[in-house]
Amino acid sequence: TYQLLSNPVYVEEKQRGVIILLLDVTEKEAAERQRREFTANVSHELKTPLQSISGYAEILQNGMVNTEDVPRFSERIYKEAQRLIRLVEDIIQLSQLDEGPASDRKEAVPLRSLAEEVVSRLGQVAEQKEISLSVSGEETVVMGSRQILDEMIYNLCDNGIKYNQPGGHVSVNIALGESGSTVLSVQDDGIGIPEDSQSRVFERFYRVDKSRSKGRGGTGLGLSIVKHGAAFHGAQLKLESTLGEGTKISVIFPVK
Ligand code: ADP
Repeated sequence: TYQLLSNPVYVEEKQRGVIILLLDVTEKEAAERQRREFTANVSHELKTPLQSISGYAEILQNGMVNTEDVPRFSERIYKEAQRLIRLVEDIIQLSQLDEGPASDRKEAVPLRSLAEEVVSRLGQVAEQKEISLSVSGEETVVMGSRQILDEMIYNLCDNGIKYNQPGGHVSVNIALGESGSTVLSVQDDGIGIPEDSQSRVFERFYRVDKSRSKGRGGTGLGLSIVKHGAAFHGAQLKLESTLGEGTKISVIFPVK
């Protein structure tokens, strides 16, 4: 798409001609469209749980509910509120990534220690769902943002737990890749991602199927946070998944 930058200027001395300045705005338009879509999605995603909360609260307030149903309604309000909190947290993380982190100074981050820290934070959730978590591999240092790397590992492990069955396993591995790159991978033996969705799971608000994601407490933003975080570190992402067998997502950091 081109935008006209100046009115045509007619040149008529020795040669006849017209000068027109055009600016290629294809990328700018795509970015604007994405921003509009994101805002529309955010509004919808925020409105749905708020409407439920408001509806349940109204019923409770009017006394239109039997005493024995009160705990069930309260539970729903609590769950929807928790969902809203997760959503707002994810949106804040994404917008911080969009603007670039407050400081783009990179520090030396020991990946294995960080992965162990993240995994221990997820221990309780994993235990409740009967999923075991492990970290293996070398202690390798990556130059980057500790906070963003933490969010990336957290989201990958959280997905490994969410899209899994009791008795499942999630493992984080840190290894040296070809020609000195560092590879952090998170592998699970969960439900897997269908082939036709694999190229879309890193998009904002994309969910393989809304019901399976919503029931598991997803916001549809986890992997787009991973994607933006990888871009910040100049890292590449590799997704390998087989439906019913499991998923492995690798973050390949460039050679130092
Ligand atoms: P959500 O918050 O819904 O989990 P994500 O952006 O993290 O959103 O992931 C997008 C979609 O990709 C999810 O809704 C889920 O269907 C699928 N997905 C992500 N990770 C996994 C995984 N490890 N196993 C199976 N499906 C996954």
